[in-house]
Amino acid sequence: MSEYQYTYEGFNTRAIHAGQAHEEVYGAVVPPVHLSTTYAPVKVGELRHGYDYGRGTNPTRDSLQVQLAALEGGVDGKAQAFTFGSGLAAENALIHAIAGPGAHIVMGNDVYGGTYRLVDKILGPWGVGHTVVDMGDLSAVEQALAATASAGATDRILWLETPSNPMMKISDIAALAEVAHAVGALLVVDNTFATPYLQLPLELGADVVVHSTTKYIGGHSDVIGGAVVVNDAEIAEKVKFQQFAAGAVNGPLDAYLTTRGLKTLGVRMDRHNANAGTIAQYLLSVPGVERVLYPGLADHPGHELAAKQMRGFGGMVSVQFTGGAAAAKQVAETTRLFQLAESLGGIESLMNYPAEMTHASVAGTELAVPDNLVRLSVGIEDVADLIDDLDRAISSL
Ligand SMILES: *Cc1c(COP(=O)(O)O)cnc(C)c1O
Repeated sequence: MSEYQYTYEGFNTRAIHAGQAHEEVYGAVVPPVHLSTTYAPVKVGELRHGYDYGRGTNPTRDSLQVQLAALEGGVDGKAQAFTFGSGLAAENALIHAIAGPGAHIVMGNDVYGGTYRLVDKILGPWGVGHTVVDMGDLSAVEQALAATASAGATDRILWLETPSNPMMKISDIAALAEVAHAVGALLVVDNTFATPYLQLPLELGADVVVHSTTKYIGGHSDVIGGAVVVNDAEIAEKVKFQQFAAGAVNGPLDAYLTTRGLKTLGVRMDRHNANAGTIAQYLLSVPGVERVLYPGLADHPGHELAAKQMRGFGGMVSVQFTGGAAAAKQVAETTRLFQLAESLGGIESLMNYPAEMTHASVAGTELAVPDNLVRLSVGIEDVADLIDDLDRAISSL
C-alpha cells in the first residue's frame, strides 16, 4: 500500500491511488471490503499482517485513512488520518485525546451546532469549559485565550470552522495558528466545508483537521462518517488510542463507500464551485433577496482571504430574504430540485432552513442564525435547471 501513498504530487492522482493498491490474490483492482471482525495469527503472538481485531485495525478502514492522510496532509508523508463512525464521534475522540477535565475550548461564534452541543452538553459536565468568540477578531481571540490561561485552564484548544456554517465567514487560518501557538494552545480546523481539495489547514499551521466525511468527502449522501487528521506523531498516537480504546470506529462498508466517494472529490468540487459561483451571482440580481453570503463574491468580507487560503470558494451559499422568516421558509418549501433537507455536500442540491433545522440546537444562544436565511448546498446538476428551480420558488413570494 505504502508505495502508492505519496508518490504522486497531483491531488486527483493521490485521491484515486493512495491506499488503493490492487489486491494480491486475484489482482482485484478495487481492494475488497474486509468485513471480517477478527484475523487468524500465524501462531500465538505472531500476527499475519498486523491485523488482529477489527476495532483496532481493519484493512478497509486503513485504505481510507491512508487515502485521506495523503490528501489532507500533502505529499510529505507525515500526516496520519483516523476515521470514525460520524463527524461528531471524531470530534469527541479528538477532544478526549488532546484535552481532559480542566481544559478550555475557544470556538468560533458560528461553529456547527452539533459541535457546540457536544462541547456544551457532553464535555462541559466532564470539566471542559468553552468560550465563544468572533474568529475574525484576532484580538478578541487573543483575549479569550489569555482569559482561559489566567483562569488556570490546563489544555487549551482553538476550534475553527472556515468557511463557517451557515454564515460563510472566512477566518485566517495562518494568523489564528500563530495566535494559538503563541500561548501554547492547539488549533483545530473543521475542514468539512472546504475539503482538502480547496484548503489545507495543516499546511497553513493548524495542528489538527477534523471532518464530517458525511458531507463532501463521501459526497453522495449515503454514508455517515468522520475523521481526524494530524501531522504530529504524538497527537496521532493519542487519537489512535481513543479510536481503539473508546471504539467509535466506522464499519468496513462505510469506510468503503467513503473511499469510493473520496476518489472523485476533485472533479465534484470543481463542479460544486462552478455551480455555486453562478448561483450566487444570479441571486444577487433577484428581487426579494436581501443578502447573498458566498466567499466567491467580490463584496464578501472574506473574499480576498478566501482567494488566498483556498483554491476555490466551495459549494455552499447562504441567502437572506427581505420577506423575513416567512419568505425564507416558503422558498425552502417550494423548490423541487433543491430538496428541503439537513446535511450538505452531496451531488444533489439541498436547501436547509438553519434556524429551525440544522441550527435549532443553538437557538437563543450566541450562535443563533438569522431567521430569514436559507442555506443552499449546491449540487452538481446542470446549473440552468437549478436556477430555473430557484427562480420559480422565489417568484412565488
Ligand atoms: C455535519 C457536520 C459535522 C458533524 O458531522 P456528523 O458526520 O454529522 O457527525 C461537523 N462539522 C460540520 C461543519 C458539519 O457540517
